[in-house]
Amino acid sequence: MRAIVYDGSHAVLRDDVVLREVKPHEVKVQIAAAGLCHSDVSVMNGTIAMPTPLVMGHEGAGEVCEVGSAVKAIKVGDRVVISTVANCGNCPNCSRGFPTRCYKSLGAMSRPFSIGDEAVYNFAAASTFCEFTLVSENQAIKIDDDIPLESAAISGCAVMTGLGAVLNRARLSVGETACVFGVGGVGLNVIQGCKISGAEKIIAIDTVADKEKLARQMGATHFVDASTQDAIEEVRKITGGVKFGPLAIGGVDWSFECTGNPNVLRGAVEVLDWGGNCVVVGIPAQGTEVSLEVRHLAYVDRGVLGCRYGQAHPHRDIPMYMSMYKNGTLKLDELISDFYTLSEFDRAVGDLHDGSIAKAVFRL
Ligand SMILES: [Zn+2]
Ligand SMILES: [Zn+2]
Repeated sequence: MRAIVYDGSHAVLRDDVVLREVKPHEVKVQIAAAGLCHSDVSVMNGTIAMPTPLVMGHEGAGEVCEVGSAVKAIKVGDRVVISTVANCGNCPNCSRGFPTRCYKSLGAMSRPFSIGDEAVYNFAAASTFCEFTLVSENQAIKIDDDIPLESAAISGCAVMTGLGAVLNRARLSVGETACVFGVGGVGLNVIQGCKISGAEKIIAIDTVADKEKLARQMGATHFVDASTQDAIEEVRKITGGVKFGPLAIGGVDWSFECTGNPNVLRGAVEVLDWGGNCVVVGIPAQGTEVSLEVRHLAYVDRGVLGCRYGQAHPHRDIPMYMSMYKNGTLKLDELISDFYTLSEFDRAVGDLHDGSIAKAVFRL
């Protein structure tokens, strides 16, 4: 079958990739559409170190074409969104309702693909830039028949990560204020999460001025072009904040760092009002550290919260997001800038890299 394979230096489209047999608790999905995420680019530039060769992609939707002998909840023909959380479902953290904190859900590598004699890894427990993939049964989230798979495809990562950061991790309240650093696929979903939650001010910040239009379409009330403006000063002005000795008064209740840049993270803490919290969403290279003035946290009750995959509960969140899409509360199609074939992989990566698009979606 065809698949985008990364060999440690290049990602190329191959047509000789083989998928192994379905195990008892797995389902085989024929991918219909798959979204390109910054994490895919991070694999190729070494920010996320992965064993290779691997089949790329981790965001997608498709139709179940085979199920393992022990699978009960999913059947052939079901239309599903793929979740990248391969949690066990039985451990204390799963039982507490936190699948993203399942110890078994991170770093468990498997090699369901092969090329000739060589076994090939999957990515994020869910390769999707391929015609068929295998996932555990709890990673296949059934959706209604009337949801277009092309629209649903981006919900497996960008929407879960962005919306979940607001709805699950922050639990932002009506009337609070927020600042979103980085207006990419995830940041745009943070913005719409803030809007859905009833934020009073939503300040989007990016170094690409062209992103203002889409940021405002998703619900941003203000846009700061950080390539020409001092983002922290602009946020202070917008929120009526002032300098107050070594600290500042005013700022936002919530900031969301979606760039993975440690300097931006420092700024995302400095724009907080007293009592505000910064949610860390963006992923920098392994070993990246950040320094913060401790008084700016401890004197004024500011917090910094990590957030993996929107602290998602995929079996609850995906169906909920799909019904929010149907009733017009959640925008998905507006986020898809363009469709590509797998043979246009390099062009899609280039478009994502130069910031000209929000989400690129591959049609399989
Ligand atoms: Zn992703
Ligand atoms: Zn578990």
